[in-house]
Amino acid sequence: MFFIGIFGIESKEKAIGSLQNFTCKSCTSNNAKIIKHYNYFHFFFIPIFKWGEEYIVLCDECNSIYSIPKEKGKAFELGKEEISYWDLKPLQIKELPFACPTCGKETESSFDFCPYCGNPLNK
Ligand SMILES: [Zn+2]
Ligand SMILES: [Zn+2]
Repeated sequence: MFFIGIFGIESKEKAIGSLQNFTCKSCTSNNAKIIKHYNYFHFFFIPIFKWGEEYIVLCDECNSIYSIPKEKGKAFELGKEEISYWDLKPLQIKELPFACPTCGKETESSFDFCPYCGNPLNK
């Protein structure tokens, strides 16, 4: 008898819709997917139970991740409610490279002066 691989715990991500009126905090994208993430216990690859459900929003352009309240995500999945911009909590926002306004070279936004051209970096 072989039990290896028969029981298991996996996590799964499923796109359940797309977000209307989305504006990414990090890029100019207006498109984002709503993804449901959950862990499940399976037996012969048949999911037996699920737990740890989470709903996240993923920007199509830059892959920034936002979290949304679980109740909202559930309501959205059931078609009862739309997710609005205000429900989003930034989880992992992709930092855009900071560029010097004078010479345009990428640099650290924590610097006061550009290491390339010496001009002040106004932030
Ligand atoms: Zn984005
Ligand atoms: Zn510069």
